[in-house]
Amino acid sequence: MTNSRTRAAASGPRKSDSDGHPPAAHPTDPDRDCPLCPRLVDFRTTQRAREPSWFNAPVPSFGDPDARLLIVGLAPGLQGANRTGRPFTGDYAGELLYGTLLKYGFANGRFEARPDDGLTLVDCRISNAVRCVPPQNKPLPAEINQCRNFLGASIAAMPRLRSIVALGRISHDTLLKLLGLRAVAAPFAHGAVHQAGGIRLYDSYHCSRYNTNTGVLTTEMFHAVFARVKADLD
Ligand code: SF4
Repeated sequence: MTNSRTRAAASGPRKSDSDGHPPAAHPTDPDRDCPLCPRLVDFRTTQRAREPSWFNAPVPSFGDPDARLLIVGLAPGLQGANRTGRPFTGDYAGELLYGTLLKYGFANGRFEARPDDGLTLVDCRISNAVRCVPPQNKPLPAEINQCRNFLGASIAAMPRLRSIVALGRISHDTLLKLLGLRAVAAPFAHGAVHQAGGIRLYDSYHCSRYNTNTGVLTTEMFHAVFARVKADLD
């Protein structure tokens, strides 16, 4: 995708599920048995045998395609989104992310780290650069390239999109390619903002436990990114 975004046929607003199941996949989400990354398919197959009650599939985007804000993480965590089927749900990263979204009015309800906690997003959608859980949380470059098409399709199906928050450098790099920005003109830095046509790209360090435990990212630093997004959208 480039600055002249295609506006693929978007379905109407879609409510997040609150019936105990992960959100239903949007037409732009990959198939549950997407075969495109052999290493990740092997890992997924192994996890399905080991933990048959887990989601163990490409994790669909969460939230309304009609939202103005999109948040893009790296990939599902093994015991987080890969287990529960909802992005950033079930491991530490979700606590800071959803707590922040609730604080700035991008979510309603209570986050209880379960897809049936009733939490809904407000004018906000969450996706990942890579939809399948990678071993050791480290997708290969070929896997990042392969899955980029799904993120591009998701972005193209968001007709009102104005703001994207990239969580971490891999997400940032993937988004540069989709938005037609050059890396030298839009280097990754926490708190940086880049303009791509009518879309603003906001960089943040990933809200992982590692980054918060090591002090790379503080709650205040993370809040500052979303405070800026909120102010720009209002
Ligand atoms: S990471 Fe993306 S492209 Fe690769 S198998 Fe999973 S859904 Fe398909």
